[in-house]
Amino acid sequence: MPKTVGVAVSHAAFHFDKLYTYAVMPAQQDQVRLGSMVLVPFGRGSRPRMGVVLACDAEPESAKLKAVFDVAPASACLTGELLDLVRFLKARTFCTWYEAVKAVIPYGAQYKPALAADGVTPVLQKQLTRHTETLYRLAAPLPEKPRPTAKQLAAVALLSGGPRTQADLEEHGISRAVAENLCAKGVLAAERVNKSIDLYAHIPQKTEQLELTAEQQAAYDALAPHLADGQPHTALLYGVTGSGKTLVFLKLIEQCLALGKKALVLVPEISLTPQMIRRLKERFGRRVAVQHSALNHTERLLQWQMIQDGGADIVVGTRSAVFAPLEGIGLIVIDEEQEHTYRSESAPRYSAQEVARWRAAHNGALLLLASATPSTESFYEAQAGRCQLVRLTQRYAGQPLPAVQIVDMRAELAAGNPREISLALEDALRENLAAHKQAILLLNRRGYQTMAQCEDCREVLKCPKCSVPMVYHKDGAGGRLLCHYCGTQIAPRPAVCPACGGKLQYRGFGTQKAEEELAALFPEARILRMDQDTTAAKDAHEKLLASFARHEYDIMVGTQMVAKGLDFEDVTLVGVLGIDSLLFAQGFRAYETVFSLVTQVVGRSGRASSPGRAIIQTTDPGNPVINLAAAQDYDAFFAQEIEYRKLGLYPPFCSLCIVSFAGKKEGEVAAAAARFAALLGQEAAKHPDIPLRVLGPTPGSILMINEIYRYKLTVKCRNDKHFRALLRQVLGLYEQEKLPAKASAAVDMHSDGDI
Ligand code: ADP
Ligand code: ZN
Repeated sequence: MPKTVGVAVSHAAFHFDKLYTYAVMPAQQDQVRLGSMVLVPFGRGSRPRMGVVLACDAEPESAKLKAVFDVAPASACLTGELLDLVRFLKARTFCTWYEAVKAVIPYGAQYKPALAADGVTPVLQKQLTRHTETLYRLAAPLPEKPRPTAKQLAAVALLSGGPRTQADLEEHGISRAVAENLCAKGVLAAERVNKSIDLYAHIPQKTEQLELTAEQQAAYDALAPHLADGQPHTALLYGVTGSGKTLVFLKLIEQCLALGKKALVLVPEISLTPQMIRRLKERFGRRVAVQHSALNHTERLLQWQMIQDGGADIVVGTRSAVFAPLEGIGLIVIDEEQEHTYRSESAPRYSAQEVARWRAAHNGALLLLASATPSTESFYEAQAGRCQLVRLTQRYAGQPLPAVQIVDMRAELAAGNPREISLALEDALRENLAAHKQAILLLNRRGYQTMAQCEDCREVLKCPKCSVPMVYHKDGAGGRLLCHYCGTQIAPRPAVCPACGGKLQYRGFGTQKAEEELAALFPEARILRMDQDTTAAKDAHEKLLASFARHEYDIMVGTQMVAKGLDFEDVTLVGVLGIDSLLFAQGFRAYETVFSLVTQVVGRSGRASSPGRAIIQTTDPGNPVINLAAAQDYDAFFAQEIEYRKLGLYPPFCSLCIVSFAGKKEGEVAAAAARFAALLGQEAAKHPDIPLRVLGPTPGSILMINEIYRYKLTVKCRNDKHFRALLRQVLGLYEQEKLPAKASAAVDMHSDGDI
């Protein structure tokens, strides 16, 4: 029962982000413990602020301690491993304590400041209150007098079979008034319980045994011992597309549960969760919980509570699911481990992989990274023997990898085909349709045309608030121009240049136009477009993919969301319509991204009984990355990429620390960034033993987004505690000089530098 506590408060500046000591009133001492959510008075005005208790019986800094206003119930306490995770995030990611707290618990489980009924006393309030419901149960026999009504008899009859929720009773025609009246008589007892939701309850369970192929079995045999030995272990499962990596996961999970341990499965994006959820639910039924951002706050909270209450053995989800409050983890799987979505781009800027590694170490668990195109860093680790390498070299159904053809789009234009779909692809689509097979086409741009350029002054029409071209979307009368960064719209779309009045020429090619061209070429084909615009509604992803799987469409055309992980047996043709722009992206992972994207999408073809083919359209047919991807030769790509990383000094040969600066006035942002660089130079000079190289500051790849200017500093370093302490020192000095008022500074240890 602590008398004083050390509290991390919300909205702290980095420099002031320490634990503040507060007194605990005797009446609160029973409730307060390590990890408690509290409301505390802060600053000169003693305004209420959220906080979390991170130390008990902290030494008072002054005789006059302020007292905690309010404490949340013990059920809302951060416990054990989550508290340690908060400390880990704080140590690694340059976030504030409270940012770390907010990352590890879902919004719905958080609290906010409010006022009590008296209108003056500050109290805590739950962010979500509507996630409980009333449960009624029989408490005493129904008295015979006064004579019970028919409804009362019905209620008692129903409840004699066990407790029921209010919603349940109402479905049987028993109103809340009837139930409450019976409660008043003492016949029924009511309590508030968490709503139970069984998401995806409609998925039928499969009982047949998993039969692994010899190669899959060998992979399983190499990995399974690490589930049992209680030692932390990292392995990379490198298996070609369609080799059945998921089967190996499923078998490992089965074994993990048999050992009484729990499993965490991470997938890179929401579009891939339905498929993984289905495969896990089919196998393991109700004890699978889901955590991803497409759930609403209530669903997410309820699933989280189910995990916290020990009701889940398996958690599947996207990046933030890595913080799931599972206890006794034996296995963590990170599928498609190279994906950038595993790295958070807002505070705390963590990578799910580093958190998973920490949790695996903490639990003595097996961390399994899986991919057909592992990240250069992971494969390098495996080659260096610091991580076990397990390979799957063959496709499950014994099919060869798809045959790939590269089409030169400049030659296509020169030969008189003005369309974006090459003759070769058109022929292939026609044959595929005739054979009643399906096709997937990748185009990483949504909208109709990607830019408007003036025929006279050659200006490209840019967003007024961002330094990017506006994209033409052909919807509604007259269409509209849309900024993909800030959402600014211009409707109807202009015909003339706003600068000089010249005629605007619309160019570039997005998914909407692809859909239109396809419909014109193949009027009989059923075409599905998958991009952010068609999948915005809740569950739209899942529904559209499910109908594609039922072969209700012949061709699916879409952005990157169609490229990864999906497994449809009737797909025998894949087309890459446009990815050239990605080759010119700035980040050091640009080639890896293109290689992985092309290999992955090509790998969607011919996964079952019929062989597959793929066609890649490009304006740069000699490009080595495209050619290696077409050959699906990861080993050759890796050999080339690791040389480039070594020569250029990029990860894994150093860590890249990107400090980004953002503010309203470009001059001030540039000056603040320069000052930060100077401070870094000055502090680094005091520690000549810390290796680092500073580049910049330079303007961001996109200078302005939503009227905010962006600069960046690139620091090549060794990410150890000495470097982190140095950088923390510099951030502190930067704040002391009040520079954040001119440009906020954010540190990212996982960025690829393309910001
Ligand atoms: P990957 O993730 O390696 O690309 P998947 O795990 O999606 O591959 O497997 C590809 C397809 O092969 C899936 O339809 C899967 O059900 C099937 N498959 C793979 N291995 C087996 C197996 N041992 N038994 C039955 N089906 C399998
Ligand atoms: Zn904009």
